[in-house]
Amino acid sequence: MNKDKIWLSSPHMGGNEQKFVNEAFEQNWVAPLGPNVNGFEEDIKNYLFKESGKEGAVAALSSGTAALHLALIMIGVKAGDEVLCQSMTFAASANPIAYLGATPIFIDSEEETLNLCPNQLRIAIEDRISKGKKPKAIIAVHLYGMPYQVEKINEIAREFDIPVIEDAAEALGSTYKGGKCGTFAEYAILSFNGNKIITTSGGGALIAKSQANKEKAVFLATQARDAAPHYQHSEIGYNYRLSNISAGIGRGQLQVIDSRVSARRQMHDFYVDLFSEIEGVKVFEAPNKDYFANHWLSVITIDENKTGGINREDLRLHLEKLNIESRPLWKPMHMQPVFKDTAFYGTGVAEQLFKDGLCLPSGSNLTEEERSRIKSGILSCFSNRS
Ligand SMILES: *Cc1c(COP(=O)(O)O)cnc(C)c1O
Repeated sequence: MNKDKIWLSSPHMGGNEQKFVNEAFEQNWVAPLGPNVNGFEEDIKNYLFKESGKEGAVAALSSGTAALHLALIMIGVKAGDEVLCQSMTFAASANPIAYLGATPIFIDSEEETLNLCPNQLRIAIEDRISKGKKPKAIIAVHLYGMPYQVEKINEIAREFDIPVIEDAAEALGSTYKGGKCGTFAEYAILSFNGNKIITTSGGGALIAKSQANKEKAVFLATQARDAAPHYQHSEIGYNYRLSNISAGIGRGQLQVIDSRVSARRQMHDFYVDLFSEIEGVKVFEAPNKDYFANHWLSVITIDENKTGGINREDLRLHLEKLNIESRPLWKPMHMQPVFKDTAFYGTGVAEQLFKDGLCLPSGSNLTEEERSRIKSGILSCFSNRS
């Protein structure tokens, strides 16, 4: 059986992307600036803020990682500082802390949203302060498109006066109490990598609270050139701007974001239905109506004591043989060799999720035929139980 591979999440074009890219070619805007870059920034700003009653400004950048790096710089994180970061996340959430010579301090997840645990966050802040160093920032992540506990995290951040950086790389289109993810913190970041809910082939954005902060970020992202006829620099700069070609893809993609969100949510419903009859498997769902997830990836946890011994690795390998991709949840940062000497505050929630959790194919472009392959693949794994 040599069937086509079913991916976890693959690019899904809407149709107008090429029109914007063609315009860029026709006008010779083949550069990291141009009308698509400005247009894409306006489009994102409208999408996030139009009905929010909040102020915001968007800088289109070469990646979500670059956006996080600039957010930390804008907040003033320097070598030797400590930054609190959700442990269960993609390494890109934490790496920019290390770029700056600062130290990440990792925090456990809670079970309702899989994201930053408010209790452990508070414990960590109080402990770091008692050890003589107040953390400079908090990086909170909306994993798999599920909003973190926004109000509780913001409350703690306010109480201790520590800015939050909202990693919304996986959460474009998700909302908490009706507000869009990407609008809840001092700075937020988005990613438009090829596997995300919409893509520019590679790209990201920094969301700031003011136009002035956006302009400062763009200044840093374009080599920090002072106003002078020659090249003059008073600060270290970066080459982090999004290209006008990529931004053209983004403009087309953002036109179809709503249908992409509803297709991913339908995949989630598909799994809820499928697993309702399989004992020992839980599909991860929103804790209550305050949370609206884009379900970028659908997540299950498997309790092998209730499945007749079938664990997440058994299912993953079974699907792999059928040419269906699935993947364990993000391996927590405090378990990663590269961060092995780093402080961690937690009780084992993220470790357990990593042990039992699996992400299933969740793309908005999965066909009826692919869904039935997924369904029969999963059912055949669990019908083999001993
Ligand atoms: C994808 C991702 C990033 C990084 O975005 P890039 O555009 O790939 O650099 C950061 N954080 C999380 C949680 C992500 O999933």
